Amino acid sequence: MCYDLAVIGGGAAGLASAITASRNKESVIVIEAGNAIGKKIIASGNGRCNLMNTGNLRYYGDEAFARQVLSQCSAADQQQFWNDIGLVTVTESENRVYPCTFQSASVMNVLKTALRLYGAEILLNAPVHACRKTDGQVFRIDAGDRAITARRVLIATGGPAGLKHCGKETGYSLLEKFGHHIIPVRPSLVPIRTEGKSISGLSGIRARCGISLKDNAGNVLHHENGEILFTDYGVSGICAMQCSRFVDEKPCYLEIDFAGHLFSDEEALISELRSRKKMFGTMPPETLLLGLLNARIAYAVMKQAGVPMKGETLDETDDSILRCVVRALRHYRIGVTGIRDMEDAQVTAGGADCREFYADNMESRIMPGLYAAGEVLNVDGDCGGYNLMFAFGSGILAGRNRRKKADSSAEGDEAG
Ligand SMILES: Cc1cc2nc3c(=O)[nH]c(=O)nc-3n(C[C@H](O)[C@H](O)[C@H](O)COP(=O)(O)OP(=O)(O)OC[C@H]3O[C@@H](n4cnc5c(N)ncnc54)[C@H](O)[C@@H]3O)c2cc1C
Repeated sequence: MCYDLAVIGGGAAGLASAITASRNKESVIVIEAGNAIGKKIIASGNGRCNLMNTGNLRYYGDEAFARQVLSQCSAADQQQFWNDIGLVTVTESENRVYPCTFQSASVMNVLKTALRLYGAEILLNAPVHACRKTDGQVFRIDAGDRAITARRVLIATGGPAGLKHCGKETGYSLLEKFGHHIIPVRPSLVPIRTEGKSISGLSGIRARCGISLKDNAGNVLHHENGEILFTDYGVSGICAMQCSRFVDEKPCYLEIDFAGHLFSDEEALISELRSRKKMFGTMPPETLLLGLLNARIAYAVMKQAGVPMKGETLDETDDSILRCVVRALRHYRIGVTGIRDMEDAQVTAGGADCREFYADNMESRIMPGLYAAGEVLNVDGDCGGYNLMFAFGSGILAGRNRRKKADSSAEGDEAG
């Protein structure tokens, strides 16, 4: 049989599109390389699955394209999609939307039920290694040992982020065979590697702070406020991972502000330190920051401030040292040596060039009938549900397949 739609990849984008198309009475097959669909959905949000975000959009890569896609399939439209297939959601802090069970398994349950209900077929253990248009009308897809024909094909093969064995990124080569271009891929939302000295002894500590990634000229490349996690190789946690996208080959460093959320300005901080110095005068210098900071961070800050840590009391230290402590507290410097590998990343930056696709139905501008959605495209988002929101949203649009208006770079055709 010739399917109306063959979806290559049973992840968020592929499943959303398969449900949308099969609900519209199209015959659909989902072709999945692995032994199960939705593996990244299950892993997402630490098993809680942060589905989407109702706040401001936070995308990189082709950000404009992401905005266009999500203006056609907004958070409200996606909420409707979830309502229609029976998932109850809740919105938590920072506009993060989760299934009300806080279990990604619930998301997979409703997706699988909808696929069954609307009759979409699932083919597992079937890696697609070739796809071509046969007679100018239908596509032939070679999947494992099966050949499948379809009138429309959606490439929803995701990216290599989070996968143990990279190098099987056939989605990109399938698209390249049709003349599409791939923006080089790299890991994003990934922990940052740093030099060892300034994180020594801090592994395992979480800290609330401001974190800035700066180049060696002191220019801020990216800034976040929130929580970081020190590790034995560097810095992790949402804020650090959101800075990782801006680490490139140029030398850079992290500047941590451990006190900005506690004191409105440096004068308030210095007067606090003066009164502590008076109060703990007969004690060793490391006493100065106890009760204000985690003890191990306090020690590291004092060391970076150049406070002599042995054989003196606070009374014996010069008052000018307080300025150095304030500086180290607000501008704690950690040299960056790189980022962790694709395997440790949550999302892939780079991917298929979005300019070669229509943002209202995800169809190729090069090859009619070919579509791409989700992480395979050159869009990546911040933590907070943005990546699944783009994957589900673009998948829904590909399944709906409505060209709403001809855009300036299209040839003026308006499909129904
Ligand atoms: C640990 C982790 C946690 C995350 N948490 C969140 C979160 O809480 N919120 C959020 O928004 N995002 C999160 N993300 C990111 C999010 O999961 C992805 O961006 C999203 O799942 C991408 O969906 P996709 O459908 O484009 O690709 P995928 O989900 O990667 O699906 C692609 C599918 O295609 C299959 N495939 C690949 N090549 C072939 C082929 N040649 N033939 C057949 N099948 C093929 C793959 O096996 C896979 O099943 C997380 C990612 C990770 C790794």
